[in-house]
Amino acid sequence: MSTSSPQPAPKLLVIASGNAGKLREFTALLASAGPELNLELGSQPLGLEVEETGDSFAANARLKAEAVARITGQWALADDSGLSVEALGGAPGIHSARYADSDPERIARLLRELAGEGNRRATFTAALAVADPSGRTVLEVEGHCQGEILEAPDGEAGFGYDPVFLVPETGLSFAQMTPELKRCVGHRGRAVDALLPQLLQLFSTDGERTTARHGGQTREMG
Ligand code: IMP
Repeated sequence: MSTSSPQPAPKLLVIASGNAGKLREFTALLASAGPELNLELGSQPLGLEVEETGDSFAANARLKAEAVARITGQWALADDSGLSVEALGGAPGIHSARYADSDPERIARLLRELAGEGNRRATFTAALAVADPSGRTVLEVEGHCQGEILEAPDGEAGFGYDPVFLVPETGLSFAQMTPELKRCVGHRGRAVDALLPQLLQLFSTDGERTTARHGGQTREMG
């Protein structure tokens, strides 16, 4: 008869986003915590749209995490993120996703509005919220990345506004970076760095394997 106690089953954490770019980044970011983060990652129900009626990134992250936790009855992690441009008074900010209909059109509008503007300073923000299965937010963090808006897109990687966001100390746009470099200097990576110690307290077990499940498939991350 074995004397070792059974390992607890991994808890499911639903990523409250339908944005493929964000989902890719979260899978990699949370995998980097290693096997002691005893989590299985899930996607939110297909077609689910939570109205973003908050007046800050943090308020919208809470709204999304709480709605998805209540609807699924599972732990949920939401990210509300966006780009705030100094010369545009902080726009597009919390309206970054609604600035135009597609990524190329959002970039085109941004470059049009900044035409002839010398001050290209901008900040990316990622607000993260984790809600428990009852729909109550239990963790909140924010990460930032300062940069400049390029005159024209440069680079192929990433998503969203990545091709026009230059991080001066690297000399590269987000779209020219490897995923590892974007993780180190980017707003989402910094927010996850702040979140991980708290996530580990909620979801840690001693050395269980961590798995990620997307579209009904489960694969190992740890
Ligand atoms: P949300 O889904 O309401 O948080 O919308 C965020 C908006 O900001 C979307 O238009 C994203 O494409 C954009 N965004 C957020 N994070 C990033 C990033 O890391 N790179 C480029 N665009 C981003």
